[in-house]
Formats: sequence, structure tokens, C-alpha cells
Amino acid sequence: MPVSSDVETDPDANAESDADAEESKIDASDGLPINELFYSLQGEGRLAGTPSVFVRTSGCNLRCWFCDSYHTSWEPTHAWESLEDIVATVENYDEADHVVLTGGEPLVHDAAVDLIERLSAAGYHVTVETNGTIHRDAPIDLASVSPKLSNSTPTAERDPAGDGEWAERHDDRRIDMDALTALVEDYDTQLKFVVADDDDLPEILDLLDRLRDAAAVPVPDEDVLLMPEGATRERLADTRERVADLALEHGFRYTPRLHVDLWNDAPET
Ligand code: SF4
Repeated sequence: MPVSSDVETDPDANAESDADAEESKIDASDGLPINELFYSLQGEGRLAGTPSVFVRTSGCNLRCWFCDSYHTSWEPTHAWESLEDIVATVENYDEADHVVLTGGEPLVHDAAVDLIERLSAAGYHVTVETNGTIHRDAPIDLASVSPKLSNSTPTAERDPAGDGEWAERHDDRRIDMDALTALVEDYDTQLKFVVADDDDLPEILDLLDRLRDAAAVPVPDEDVLLMPEGATRERLADTRERVADLALEHGFRYTPRLHVDLWNDAPET
């Protein structure tokens, strides 16, 4: 099993479930709200299987109904940690030379840039997992960008925490072509799409067309990854074979979710 650091949960953090309160704290420059910090195997994408330290920040500008880090978005919980303490904890895991900054949406935080700079200066390969709606200038080695399709919208029927109050705001924000284009142009990027079924493909193909028109760099099919929707082994069993077939049909990559295969929906994996 992955090894955990001892990050305490802020008892006041449940108040952050109010969206305005959540967004009011994201300009803090002296630290980051850390939901969990742990050592595990990267489960998804090009670097699947790579031992990595995961720094998961709390707070997100979207609300996907299927969010597999619910306590960074719908009910954010965290401890505020100084950047010095975060780097020191990362360095405790001697085995790892890869760090994954994830969330939530880590790039909502100004201080994410400072953290990436410190980790890069310390010699780490830094992957940033982002929903692609925010661009920052930082020494990012791999931008793992997961644009959210319309299948992510928390409609009233799918809302895990209400009656669809977030649906319109989520839909308005989930694609920002300027930010997405800048990420693709500035960083080594993998585009990771969560796919539930065939209905998602036309939207992916349309988004790729628009991105390829806008970007000044190529967006090759080998950088497009289809990932089956599902945060449990049971759900993945329903989606992965069809998603693998879709990857074959379109010449995209298929990415597994190794952490779900290995540890199901356990935290800190
Ligand atoms: S963008 Fe990611 S962290 Fe934010 S709600 Fe969607 S799945 Fe969760």
C-alpha cells in the first residue's frame, strides 16, 4: 500500500464547501491547502507505474459529478502547509524522483508556481495534473491535462451534493480554449479524456479539431489518452473494454487506472 504523510485535516475546512469561501483563500502565497501528501505509483497516463510523491491540493474551479477526489472539490478538506514543509515532506520519500502536483485543480493557487519552482530546483520531475482551464508559467515537466467533457456536468440527476446548482457554472468554465492552447504550446503535454461510452468521442474529436486549429504546435494522436470513467473496480469493469476499443479505432492511447486496479477506491492511492 502507499505510504502516507501525517497531514491533519483542518476541522474548519468543511466550511469551505461554500464556493465563495473556497475561492477566497486561493490567493494565499505562503502555503497551500493540502488534502493529502503520499507516496504511491502513478496510476494514469504516460508515466503509469512510476513511483511518485503525490501532493494533492484542495480547491477546484469545477464540480464534475464523478470527481474521484471529492474532498478537494465538493467537500474540500485540508491542512494549510507552508511550502518549506511540503518540500521537506516530499524529500522524506528518498525513493522518488517524480512529484505529481494534483488536486482538485492545483493551478487555482498562486503558490503552486512557487512550489513547482522549488521542486524543480531540487531536481524533481514535476507532473502537474490539471483540468486545463488555467495556465501558469512554471517549470512543469509534464502537463497532464484532463479537459472535462459535457459528461462531467453535475446535472440535478447526477449532482452528488445538491440539485444541480453547480451545473451552469461548471459548464461555462469547463473548457477555456486560450488556457488549453497555452498549456499545449508551452509544455510537454498529455491530453487525458475521461470516457464513459461512444457518445463522448464526437466531443473529443471536435475539441481536438479546435485545439489543433488554435495551437502553434502539433497535437499528435499519441498525446491523446482515453481513460475509462470509473473510480471503483466495479465501474471500471463496465467501461474499460469499450474505451480500449475506441482507442484502437481512433489511433489514440488507452490509459489504465492502475491505482484503481491495485487498490480500488482506497484513499492516498
Ligand atoms: S476538475 Fe478534477 S478535481 Fe475538479 S471536480 Fe473535476 S474531477 Fe474533481
